[in-house]
Amino acid sequence: MPSANPSIHAAAILTVGNELLNGDVVNTNSSWLGRTLRGVGVPCNTMLTVTDHLDRIVKALELLWAEHDLVIISGGLGPTRDDVTKLALLDFFNDTLVRDAAVMNHVSDYFLKRGRAVSEVNRAQADVPSRATVLFNDLGTAPGLLFEVDGRLMAAMPGVPYELHHITLKRLIPELEKRWKKSERRVLQHYFRTTGIGESDLSDRALAELENRIPPDVDIAFLPHPQGVDIRISQVNGESDDTFVRFADWIRYTAGVFIYSEDYRQSLAARVVELLTERSQTLALAESCSGGYLADALTDVPGSSRCFAGGVVAYSNEVKARQLGVDPAILEKHGAVSAPVALAMAQGAAERLGADYGISTTGIAGPSGGTPEKPVGTVWIGFWSAGGAHHACRFHFTTERLVNKERSHAAAMDLLRRHVTDVPGFPYHPEVVHAADSKTRNPG
Ligand code: ATP
Ligand code: MG
Repeated sequence: MPSANPSIHAAAILTVGNELLNGDVVNTNSSWLGRTLRGVGVPCNTMLTVTDHLDRIVKALELLWAEHDLVIISGGLGPTRDDVTKLALLDFFNDTLVRDAAVMNHVSDYFLKRGRAVSEVNRAQADVPSRATVLFNDLGTAPGLLFEVDGRLMAAMPGVPYELHHITLKRLIPELEKRWKKSERRVLQHYFRTTGIGESDLSDRALAELENRIPPDVDIAFLPHPQGVDIRISQVNGESDDTFVRFADWIRYTAGVFIYSEDYRQSLAARVVELLTERSQTLALAESCSGGYLADALTDVPGSSRCFAGGVVAYSNEVKARQLGVDPAILEKHGAVSAPVALAMAQGAAERLGADYGISTTGIAGPSGGTPEKPVGTVWIGFWSAGGAHHACRFHFTTERLVNKERSHAAAMDLLRRHVTDVPGFPYHPEVVHAADSKTRNPG
């Protein structure tokens, strides 16, 4: 049964695949769809995952179709034997297949361009249920399918995430927007992406003086992840937009220095790229414990070539000395995980790669290699600016190797963000060593 109020639509997401249930593949399609639907004012009430069995899929469809105006299915639309979603849809809607000429052309083209023959299995991709509208798939061969019954919709899409994203954004959402007016449901939502502070500290700080005066129709969520904590505030069909705006202002005021972006899609690295590009400044890296993680995150950002000069993954002491000019005597005296070495690495990267800023990481990623003075999770991040600021910060992260790499990345990016935007202080209260005059490098 559709919702009692016909202007409020509710969606269900059905993901199909044994690989999702046995944990081989992380079900990112569900979360992506949930978030995307919420963005267009159609909240998802139910998510279900079933095996690649026809009966299971049909049973799930019966259950979901009875209670939602929109059911989205992901997976099992491909041409192989284990892909049975199309058969389940035929069964459910008591329908038959017809060959779609446009899809057939697309499939033939797709294989011709790759110099491959079109097999019978491939041709079958162009066979679609007669009652479905094709949601064209520019990126693959299995088209999406849209069924409409009494104003309610069911859409089936391939499981490959980038194909699903493409079809949803380019084909499905325009269909929803044609039918369902967004204005019928007023969803206000805002994100604050923070870093350099833990979840509970952030919550205390942001909400401290409010006590029980959080507006009743505004929802607030703290969403932690290895790079920081996102604050999401939302209001659905609230009485006044002003309350929401004032609440957002309050969060911005109290959490200010920790907020690096108010766009939930913007990564910390993307924010750094934006800041450096605006200032026509450049960055070079010297990465030891992060092993290239920082360079990887920066180069994920389109346009990063304008500000990212490059980096050296200086894992061994020889490379630290030879490629970055770190004085071997300093390495010997203080050890690789130390403030002088972090400073010298950062300076070496900036000078040798000709950048305005140099950032280095050197630490004990774990799980072994820790000592009482330098336990696993100890990371020094060096910061060197051509403008004169030189310092190294010691952080104590976790015992998890991969988390330590992520946390090193976040702290390094945040040091740079704070420096270029004149935010005082450092993330996560590290120990800070300022190098008035760094005598840590080998001039040769
Ligand atoms: P294809 O035409 O490629 O076979 P399909 O619709 O049959 O598409 P599946 O075979 O179910 O899709 O899945 C294809 C791949 O997409 C899987 O190997 C899996 O890696 C990925 N995938 C499927 N479902 C999900 C999901 N819910 N979340 C993330 N990835 C998924
Ligand atoms: Mg498949």
